Amino acid sequence: MPVRIHVNSPNVRYTDTHIEAKYVYQTTSVHREGHHITVTPQSTQMTFRTESHVPRLGVMLVGWGGNNGTTVTAAVLANKLGLTWRTKTGVQKANYYGSFLQSSTLCLGSGPQGNVNVPFCDVLPMVHPNDIVFDGWDISSLDLGRAMERAEVLDWALQEQLRSHMSHMKPRKSIYIPDFIAANQESRADNVLTGTIAEQMEQIRADIRDFRGSEGVDKVIVLWTANTERFCDVTPGVNDTAENLMAAIQTSPSTLFAVASILEDCAFINGSPQNTFVPGAVELAVQRGVFIAGDDFKSGQTKIKSVLVDFLVSAGIKPTSIVSYNHLGNNDGKNLSAPQQFRSKEISKSNVVDDMVQSNPILYQPGEKPDHCVVIKYVPYVGDSKRAMDEYTSEIMMGGTNTLAIHNTCEDSLLASPIILDLVILTELCQRISVRVQGEKEYQSFHSVLAILAFLCKAPLVPPGAPVINAFFSQRACIENILRACLGLPPQNHMLLEHKLQ
Ligand code: NAD
Repeated sequence: MPVRIHVNSPNVRYTDTHIEAKYVYQTTSVHREGHHITVTPQSTQMTFRTESHVPRLGVMLVGWGGNNGTTVTAAVLANKLGLTWRTKTGVQKANYYGSFLQSSTLCLGSGPQGNVNVPFCDVLPMVHPNDIVFDGWDISSLDLGRAMERAEVLDWALQEQLRSHMSHMKPRKSIYIPDFIAANQESRADNVLTGTIAEQMEQIRADIRDFRGSEGVDKVIVLWTANTERFCDVTPGVNDTAENLMAAIQTSPSTLFAVASILEDCAFINGSPQNTFVPGAVELAVQRGVFIAGDDFKSGQTKIKSVLVDFLVSAGIKPTSIVSYNHLGNNDGKNLSAPQQFRSKEISKSNVVDDMVQSNPILYQPGEKPDHCVVIKYVPYVGDSKRAMDEYTSEIMMGGTNTLAIHNTCEDSLLASPIILDLVILTELCQRISVRVQGEKEYQSFHSVLAILAFLCKAPLVPPGAPVINAFFSQRACIENILRACLGLPPQNHMLLEHKLQ
């Protein structure tokens, strides 16, 4: 049973439709001249307003028939149906482990019983994953039941229970431009749209409208979990502005999907590493006030990196070499075995330690970075069970060296699926939050580039000029504290002064 939270404060008002919270946003403005630093605390009065009605959410996945697409659909069905199945070690029950919204907690504060931790998903009214309606596109025509079997992710006993629920789910025809994904994907491309690119994009828009109408969903969010594409050139006159992008319509399938979604007022999330959000696509989203977010799910190796390097650098230890080796045998690995698609992943994985390194000028001179190398190899035998081996070498005191070696084995799609759920549920929540800064008349929503989702992305897209934060716990604290602000609660400060004073 979800907990019910009521905030007992004159600053928080519950109406029939909204939760309104008066909030003081406290920051510090810093001015530096040589060795002289002046810090000025600043306070801004704000009102956070959250619509309390939770809509019926439809999610359209591009790449629905892939490992992630089938696994997330199957996992939601299994949870909804309360399925259990036998494995060689006993009875397994469907769950949402790996979803920080469903399976991790936030500390509200403390009372006579000590700290009170509640599931993140109970802090504000949110869509429950069991209520999400899925649809989507794939260049492969296999129905979701057979595609789940092809993925080889879920236990067979579970697949047997799910097949009849999934075999009627058929991916819609998709846009296939062979040049953007590896040539080795061609054999599965039997479900593709024909006609001009403009006509194909119109069909994608019509599909979104059709899904919305036929399933009676209030909102649709579109998420790219199709193959990694090669990077696309940003060319003046072609995709550098919204106007040029719309006029030329000469771009990658993922950008075409992003444009179609934005034109249908649907948020678009990119779970793969390629540069879907060319400047023209970002401008279009901003012009139309539609959320976009990405890039690339932060699921395994990068997630650990964003914890481990943060830990080392903030402990005053200097990482000097980070070598990340992966091998995997699923279709994602097969696609990434082509050099241009690997390059997209390499770029996405490469900048993840930058913010942590730059935060510490004691350890790193301006421009200095640890050596950082990423290798990915396709080894069919291991299937979806990806191996990630990382070696972190750091300098410690007085010329000492500390080497950490990590070997991580894990079903890739079982890490990505809960992240897909968190991405769409948080996006939907953000669509219901608006903020009014004192002195201004209007409530404003978050910037179209929804950087709050950075926590779930390897290469976070941020509004122009905003800092990119990769450090795991900073990103998590950002979400936690924004959710707390929506309830008029101060940021979590971990001071516990009530236990530290006389
Ligand atoms: P997958 O190859 O199993 O699935 C991708 C699906 O996309 C395939 O079914 C393919 O037929 C389809 N597809 C390709 N081009 C398409 C198009 N133009 N339109 C519609 N469908 C198309 O891969 P996956 O393991 O599900 O991963 C999906 C994506 O997520 C990859 O780009 C991967 O790099 C990214 N990703 C995955 C993880 C993870 O942990 N699983 C983490 C980060 C990023």
